[in-house]
Amino acid sequence: MKKIICISLIFSLVFAVGCKKSSVKKQISNCEIIVEYLDGAIKGSVEYEYFLPSRGIKKVIFNLYPNAFKEYEGCFTIKKVSVDKNDVEWQYIGETSQFLSIELPKRADSAEKIKIFIEFECILKECKQRLGIAGDVVNIAFFYPIPCAFNNGEYLMQPYLEIGDPFCLDFYNFDITFTLPSVFTIASGVTVKGIDILGEKTTYFCNLKNATNFACSLSEKYHVVSKKWGDKRVNYYFTQDEAPESKLELIINALDYFNEKIGSYAYDNFSVATSDYLLNGMEYSAFCVIKNGLNNINFENAVVHEIAHQWIGQAVCFNEYESGYFDEGLTEFLTALYLADTKKEGLEKRINYAKILFNTFVSEQCKKDKNYKSVIKKGLNEFCDEMEYQILAYEKGFLFFNHLNDKLNGELLKYLTAFYKKHIFERVNEDDFINVFKSKKKSVKAEFDKIVFFGDNYFVA
Ligand SMILES: [Zn+2]
Repeated sequence: MKKIICISLIFSLVFAVGCKKSSVKKQISNCEIIVEYLDGAIKGSVEYEYFLPSRGIKKVIFNLYPNAFKEYEGCFTIKKVSVDKNDVEWQYIGETSQFLSIELPKRADSAEKIKIFIEFECILKECKQRLGIAGDVVNIAFFYPIPCAFNNGEYLMQPYLEIGDPFCLDFYNFDITFTLPSVFTIASGVTVKGIDILGEKTTYFCNLKNATNFACSLSEKYHVVSKKWGDKRVNYYFTQDEAPESKLELIINALDYFNEKIGSYAYDNFSVATSDYLLNGMEYSAFCVIKNGLNNINFENAVVHEIAHQWIGQAVCFNEYESGYFDEGLTEFLTALYLADTKKEGLEKRINYAKILFNTFVSEQCKKDKNYKSVIKKGLNEFCDEMEYQILAYEKGFLFFNHLNDKLNGELLKYLTAFYKKHIFERVNEDDFINVFKSKKKSVKAEFDKIVFFGDNYFVA
């Protein structure tokens, strides 16, 4: 996610105010989504060939993200649930019915893999966020039931929050059948295997392998420019843009840059789509949405940040609920490196900007609480507000990774390459990152302890 904070904003503000188990290579479950979009509603089903995360579990818990958005109260309905083709007991749980609990039949005790089928319906609302009708564009993400991540013997039931990216996702191989009125263009990062046109409806048969999520944007007004990139295809969908070819070139330049600096891009295609949107950008697997009407500088900042997320946040995935700073701080650092290398804009300017924001924020906090510690490793529900999250996750996160790079004599990317190669298509945590350095006989643990976990206000001059 990418948001711009104005320095002037922070000066006027008055503030009220461990990771354990490392990742394990998991088997990737299949997920078949069959849906139709018509007249502002999505109807369809999802079927998981789901590897049970532990023997003897009695229930599987799913996230129903639409129920978490207050705009969506009463708009999302489960129609049917079955396990291995048998009807089963299920119930909504959580304050806003954000979760679905499915009882497993007894024989699932000894099964390694079960088929979970869920039929659902979602009426879309006007909403300029991940799921909703935003002017000429319909943004469709997190609209289908998604199994809660399983950690340390239990399902993580983390309620949706307005700030950050409140997700902890596993990887799936998606098969998607999407039907929509033929007048719409669908923008997504999927690979289209076939298209059926029947009367006024078109059905797309697609797949997306090793991905944490399937998202798309639809519009009757989309134009697209597209180019082959090696054996992959890159697409830029827009409703209005006087220079779309130069945007496509910029997108390809950023893909080239991270491909060379970190490792091979993980998916078959990459697409960017513009939309009326609250934030400047939002990342999904092989796809991102960028806010309409950004000037060239803000477009570049947003799209490079979202492209960097394809490596950090998508193909390698943190628990964004508990470690938002990692994805956001590191992608901000990667964006700054890209800008420094391609536009000769020194890192210094970005560092100074981050320091002003961070130092001003911490000074204000310390006036109210002299013991204030800028801990950046904490749950999204522990940040006092959006501003604290933005300053700590993005700005202190950026400063932290820049500091780490200095400690490593400018060789952070070398270690990041090893981390990416080792953990591609895994959900990871700080220990996995720290271990990459250990294996190269370097230690960064003390830096994490001091700046990330303990929250030393390190960058305040
Ligand atoms: Zn981001």
